[in-house]
Amino acid sequence: MKKVIASLIIVALFLSLLGNKERKEPSNVCLSCASWEKQFNSRDELYQASDLVIKGKVLSQEPELRCDLVFSRSYVKVECVYKTSSKNVINDAVEIVQTGGTLNDYTTVPIHGAPLLESGNEYLLFLQLSEPDQVFGQYYLISGGTQGIYQPDAISSGDDVTQFLAYKGSIRESDLLRSGVDNNYSGWPSLPIAWSSNYANFCYSGVTYPSAVSQAFTSWNYSEFTYSYTSSMSTQVQIRENVYGDVGWYAKTVAVSNNSGTGLGNAYVSLNHSNMYDLSTFEYKAIVCHEAGHALGIDGHFDGYTAIMQSDASNFMSSYNTPRTFDKTNGLYLLYGSP
Ligand SMILES: [Zn+2]
Repeated sequence: MKKVIASLIIVALFLSLLGNKERKEPSNVCLSCASWEKQFNSRDELYQASDLVIKGKVLSQEPELRCDLVFSRSYVKVECVYKTSSKNVINDAVEIVQTGGTLNDYTTVPIHGAPLLESGNEYLLFLQLSEPDQVFGQYYLISGGTQGIYQPDAISSGDDVTQFLAYKGSIRESDLLRSGVDNNYSGWPSLPIAWSSNYANFCYSGVTYPSAVSQAFTSWNYSEFTYSYTSSMSTQVQIRENVYGDVGWYAKTVAVSNNSGTGLGNAYVSLNHSNMYDLSTFEYKAIVCHEAGHALGIDGHFDGYTAIMQSDASNFMSSYNTPRTFDKTNGLYLLYGSP
């Protein structure tokens, strides 16, 4: 009998080690944010950086599991081409991969501001070709993550893209198809989502630079809040590094509320080895520091400010890799109280 119990415990331990997955109910999700490889400041930039600009209709969509996350591959019928390059062979359909979806027991919540395309719907899409990959193949990604999805009638005058691009300066928000609260800084958080205990334990698995991960998290510590390392992967903040393929982001964080809904219960940080492998230790730490800010409950981004919590990682990762004054004043101290 003891042997049976012992082997059951071993099986349970093994299963918990295998529990490298996000099985969260979407209703529980407080925030889902990503550090995109590149974001754009104007439509011109977005257009110039895109390999393909089309109006298209989603024919079908299939979920695919990459390690512990679900991605969705949409097959989009091309109805109108506004930009292409000779490298691209335009058949009548293109494949677009996005983060999020459900497959069997696995659910991955789409990143705020980057809603999944829906079958049967039409879109204006700015797309970038992914890095070719032996396992995942080659496909298109939405340019700028949250930025390349538009209402199909965003280009209204026939096939003329000039008028659309004429709204220069900034991307016209009303045409963007966005979901959730991926807003630039505007005085949030209006609804504080924080760890009610004023501390959170973190643990990591498979990360390239463990000490950089620890330093990135504890760089947020001050008198009112503490991050502490623990060796158990069943802890509050779980950080995993995996090969997700080229998906447009360096890292992403999902935070879910506790059972009573009074604060955060868990945060899951995913580091994408496919896009982070060639970062310096300094840059790597900067990305993790940004995600540690989301794991604190900082929802959204301080775009346009000197802050680690900007959505465009290329703006900060080679310059600084610890929280700036702006991050503390408008994020940490708002959530946990000023020192
Ligand atoms: Zn972020």
